[in-house]
Amino acid sequence: MSRVYNFSAGPAVLPEEVLKEAAEEMLDYKGSGMSVMEMSHRSKVYDEIIKEAEQDIRDLLSIPDNYKVLFLQGGASQQFAAVPMNLMKNKKAGYILTGQWAKKAFAEAKLYGEAVELASSADKTFSYIPDCSDLPITDDMDYVYICENNTIYGTKYKKLPNTKGRILVSDVSSCFLSEPMDVTKYGVVYGGVQKNIGPAGVVIDIIREDLITDDVLPGTPTMLKWKTQSDNDSLYNTPPCYGIYICGKVFKWIKRNGGLAGMKTRNEEKAKILYDFLDNSTLFKGTVVKEDRSLMNVPFVTGNEELDKKFVAAATEKGFVNLKGHRTVGGMRASIYNAMPKEGVEKLVSFMEQFEKENK
Ligand SMILES: *Cc1c(COP(=O)(O)O)cnc(C)c1O
Repeated sequence: MSRVYNFSAGPAVLPEEVLKEAAEEMLDYKGSGMSVMEMSHRSKVYDEIIKEAEQDIRDLLSIPDNYKVLFLQGGASQQFAAVPMNLMKNKKAGYILTGQWAKKAFAEAKLYGEAVELASSADKTFSYIPDCSDLPITDDMDYVYICENNTIYGTKYKKLPNTKGRILVSDVSSCFLSEPMDVTKYGVVYGGVQKNIGPAGVVIDIIREDLITDDVLPGTPTMLKWKTQSDNDSLYNTPPCYGIYICGKVFKWIKRNGGLAGMKTRNEEKAKILYDFLDNSTLFKGTVVKEDRSLMNVPFVTGNEELDKKFVAAATEKGFVNLKGHRTVGGMRASIYNAMPKEGVEKLVSFMEQFEKENK
């Protein structure tokens, strides 16, 4: 068996310990005589798994009692619709456009009401986060929407927008549990787990209780109504049982490794190694303004498309895989989520140094 250094943006690397534990429990979960994949979601043993997972994420993020945690399906993209369906009482919301995922959420919201562009960084290929201190937010907006870490472009909000009293809704798919976060600043936080937490197929919503109501847009499917999910503790129908079980294991792994403060320290160390190298390289260059750099997704280029291709191929050969940039932007991108060991980043940088020498 040989594992590669997987820099994929998602589905992405998971902690090896978690995969090993899951492998050990594959045929017989804790004396149940069956795999978690095979057990009823209504069984006592599964109930413990999902309850414990919820408690662990509550502990990690210090989620207050007046916020619900929902384990849902359909990925982050399904929530692009669920957000307006559940929140657009006035049929108006403000969106800050910082990349593809924010744009997709914006386009989806337009199907249900008036989605207003509050700010955008499209003018410079989304390489920065716009100034959000005084946006044209009006009192009739039901919420203000952001994508907090832009997976494709490698930017992250270091300061949350001034929403002028409106509810903040944030897609945190690619920075979920990468550092501490004050949940009370948000109305809704949600993320697909396949970037930093678990296998694709699970999306976790953290929603302030008063925003979970029967007052949803007409025609909202039962499954997309947060109230349905909340009233049934995420067990209205069969949830993505196995995925939630792996998320639970990752929560425990984070707890064992210093919690979110521990993750932040590790992630800052890893990102610094890569950014310091990029800042001093004569061949490679980061594409994001320094103040807005993501700790999770690091896009970079050589400035020469042929050389980019050569680099990606050579890196793959050496076991540094999935470094090709998103198909819409080109170049390279190293995603260095929680589970990427520091050693993986150090070795990647050594390889880049060598590539630079040989290609100058
Ligand atoms: C990956 C990603 C999505 C899409 O997630 P799906 O689970 O595939 O729907 C949405 N938002 C962000 C920020 C992402 O990184």
